[in-house]
Amino acid sequence: MLSKQDIDDRILVQEHFAQEHLPSQMGSAEIEEYKEKIRRLLVEKDACLVAHYYTDDLIQQLADETGGCVADSLEMARFGSRHPASTLIVAGVRFMGETAKILNPEKRILMPTLEATCSLDIGCPADEFAAFCDQYPDHEVVVYANTSAAVKARADWVVTSSIALKVVEHLVDQGKKIIWAPDKHLGEYVRKETGADMILWDGSCIVHEEFKAKGILDLKQVYPDAAVLVHPESPDAVVQIADAVGSTSQLIKAAHDLPNETFIVATDRGIFYKMQQAAPGKRFLEAPTGGSGATCRSCAHCPWMAMNGLDNILAALENGTDEILVDDDLRERALKPLQRMLDFSAD
Ligand code: SF4
Repeated sequence: MLSKQDIDDRILVQEHFAQEHLPSQMGSAEIEEYKEKIRRLLVEKDACLVAHYYTDDLIQQLADETGGCVADSLEMARFGSRHPASTLIVAGVRFMGETAKILNPEKRILMPTLEATCSLDIGCPADEFAAFCDQYPDHEVVVYANTSAAVKARADWVVTSSIALKVVEHLVDQGKKIIWAPDKHLGEYVRKETGADMILWDGSCIVHEEFKAKGILDLKQVYPDAAVLVHPESPDAVVQIADAVGSTSQLIKAAHDLPNETFIVATDRGIFYKMQQAAPGKRFLEAPTGGSGATCRSCAHCPWMAMNGLDNILAALENGTDEILVDDDLRERALKPLQRMLDFSAD
């Protein structure tokens, strides 16, 4: 049964789509006009565009063309910190903008829309999470980057999917027991791979949770030579049939490195843009989900990532709207586990 929050989120997303201003609905002249204005304003406002792999191709293209970056959330954080621009436009979802602000309090962090959130973030309210952690005071608290600043502030470590295994292996070596939040599928994957003693929060990603092992196996009948690439936010049955499991960056690398010509990809289809660049000439197929019927909330594309468009990037640059602000005390507490991850990844 859907919670009220789920229903509110759906309504929000549907209303947004109903506004009919997504970039794919623009003609090529209009797209070029938007891109030109954004390019000019990025220079005028000393700004840089930092985009996630799941955003629209046009946004990824623009970030590449203007000296910004297209990356996973770990690399977005690193890039934003290194870049000298005084303003970062973070095209992604809200926790990515918050992460940028926590790491760069002196910078102005704008987002195309503050409404772009994440089911993992929504599904892990800070007060409930704190009460959960309080039950296990001898556990190390490891949270995924897809969480609010307040949840990060309660953690010992923040991790992204590209570094989760290494951090947990490190903690296992130290004999630590772990609380993991919020993605239960990624947590289960990490637990199996590392043998860690882990207690999992019950959250999930609405995009990855809908991939179906049976649908993938059926598709493999049609494309027997295809390799299956899976993000570990997917259910265990899907992870089990993967040829490669990994973060977005790791899956792009696998698309390049594996000899297969065809890939069935169980992650957001926004990643195809970079996969095609990394492995030109290869074919990428969306892994089947629940279908376009009533049970499919995402159909392999995150509805919140889809809220990012050229129009609201331009509006953010023109008007300085949708700025991310994080209270100083909260920022300092959330910085510790984030910085720990960045220091660990640099070693
Ligand atoms: S794809 Fe899933 S994990 Fe990523 S932002 Fe969307 S809901 Fe969150």
